[in-house]
Amino acid sequence: MKTKGNHTNKWIETTIPLTLNPGKTKQLYLCRAQAKILAFANNLLPFKTQVSSALNFHHLVYKRFKYLGIHSQVQEAVQRRVYSAKRARTFHQLPMEFNFPRSGNLTMSTRGNPIVKISPLKQRIALPISRDGGWRRVEEQMKGGWTAHSCKVFKHNRSWVMHLILRKALPPTQEVEGTIGVDVGRKIMAAITVNHPSFALVEQYLGKDLAWKQHQFQTRRAVLQQYAAQGDKRARRALIRLRKQEKHYVQTRCAQIAHEIVCLAALTRSAIIIEDLKYLRRLWTIQATKGNWGGKKIRRSLNRWSYSLFHDTLTRIAQLHQIPIVIVLPHYTSQTCSHCGKRSKRSRRTRDLFSCISCRFTVNADRNASRNLSLLGQLKLGLPFFNAWSSYLPFPCERRTLCSSVSLAEVCSTTSYGVMSSSVPVD
Ligand SMILES: [Zn+2]
Repeated sequence: MKTKGNHTNKWIETTIPLTLNPGKTKQLYLCRAQAKILAFANNLLPFKTQVSSALNFHHLVYKRFKYLGIHSQVQEAVQRRVYSAKRARTFHQLPMEFNFPRSGNLTMSTRGNPIVKISPLKQRIALPISRDGGWRRVEEQMKGGWTAHSCKVFKHNRSWVMHLILRKALPPTQEVEGTIGVDVGRKIMAAITVNHPSFALVEQYLGKDLAWKQHQFQTRRAVLQQYAAQGDKRARRALIRLRKQEKHYVQTRCAQIAHEIVCLAALTRSAIIIEDLKYLRRLWTIQATKGNWGGKKIRRSLNRWSYSLFHDTLTRIAQLHQIPIVIVLPHYTSQTCSHCGKRSKRSRRTRDLFSCISCRFTVNADRNASRNLSLLGQLKLGLPFFNAWSSYLPFPCERRTLCSSVSLAEVCSTTSYGVMSSSVPVD
């Protein structure tokens, strides 16, 4: 499932695989069409070097290949596909893409069975769809307001498969009063802080098991790879199985954690604040190359794909539940004191411990970062400044300065968060 579209008109997309049951004549027709489209795609490749944009590419090749008799919309889809595949030299397989209702349609037969009508070439054919689990899912989704947008048809293991793409318009997001800072860490998947004026402070560490589990998978993989290198076929099969297991484990846990966070956000009417992942990656690369993070072993343990997976999952689930997601630049969130706002590198004592050099406020480093993120989110959303944890502290801090006077432009620029001037005193 993906989220696409611009800011004003957003929609989400989901893909459901379905099995088709074409008869022999139709299978022949499909094979012919697919071969033709594949040849067309390979013929297009040399023209790519002559143009600089997708539109110019279309003008250059569209009329030249019109005689082939491929449906115009299918032809355009292939052109787009070829142009966007930057490094492709030859295409060995290419799914046929059909857009509803221009070159395809999803209907019912007179007997009430589901069929898809597609026209890869000029002729339109109807293909029956298996009434399996996939089709039941489609029916369920349709009841929930999803509509069929397009489909991809290709041959897989001697049978014809269709990937049906469904779309749904996103509802507008709700009004918010508080924020949830989500810090994505190496040891703990997500450290969260619920910062809301009328709810108690909730702070949780979610996904502690992921790093350990991934480490376990890694050790197992290392052993199996040794055997596989010696030519052990069983080890090779086990490796493939292991890869799937790991993927499914991480996917499931990411979705579970995301659901927990979204539930909390819905309960407390809060926005979810996450850091910009692009920046995070760059930071890690810098740190890894500097040798601060212990080189190869650490770099491997970063497992970046699971972080981007978590970000995507959280964004998607939040949008489905109408929870606003705010992306902030995480500059200095790990070096700034969430209590007094003093920024110093020396405050980060170890990787896990944060202890402010100014006010002696000591806290877990991930928790500190997630608190800072929740404050940054308040600033970006224009909410009044509030920090829930200050009331829990036994000592008052004179240096407690607030970031409400920092402008939004400064948050989005590079170095703003550390220099915070006081405007609203908190007891
Ligand atoms: Zn401090």
